[in-house]
Amino acid sequence: MSNQNGSLQRGQQMNIFCKGCGKKVDTFVVGDYRYGSPIKTCPKCKAEYINPVYHEIETDGISPDAFDIKKLLIVLLIGVIFFVISAAMHYYEVTTLDYYHTIYIAIMVISIIVILFAIGDIILIKTGLKEKRNERKRQESVQRMSNPEYALKLREFGYNVPQKYIPEEDTVHNKTEI
Ligand SMILES: [Zn+2]
Repeated sequence: MSNQNGSLQRGQQMNIFCKGCGKKVDTFVVGDYRYGSPIKTCPKCKAEYINPVYHEIETDGISPDAFDIKKLLIVLLIGVIFFVISAAMHYYEVTTLDYYHTIYIAIMVISIIVILFAIGDIILIKTGLKEKRNERKRQESVQRMSNPEYALKLREFGYNVPQKYIPEEDTVHNKTEI
């Protein structure tokens, strides 16, 4: 289930259609990684479907990018480069020309948001706050998985559910004989 979108472009928005009634029930962005149950219910016909951007930490783990400081530093660097270029262009326009383009101001603002986001995330990682937050999310996942009905349903949808969540009677016939 999780590599179903392997050939799709990252960032591409996808629609999910209900297999029960054919209605468009949800959208997701390829490459997004959110925590929560991937099993959703169609509001119209109550059929269940999978939204692949949602992940149970207990089956899929945390986002592979969650603690990637190197990636955040690259994002930070790109933000700084864009800020410097747009600030230089804006400065050039206001000092030597009698007009200026608002696009450079917009890029400056977006760059600052990107820079603050990257710095904020690095601080969250370095202070351990992000780990704490992820642990809380993991506990929520444990809670959902503790319902055997839910764990079995996830397995039916193709998720690799750890044995500890599978009820005894469902594991017995899978055991190899000594
Ligand atoms: Zn439906």
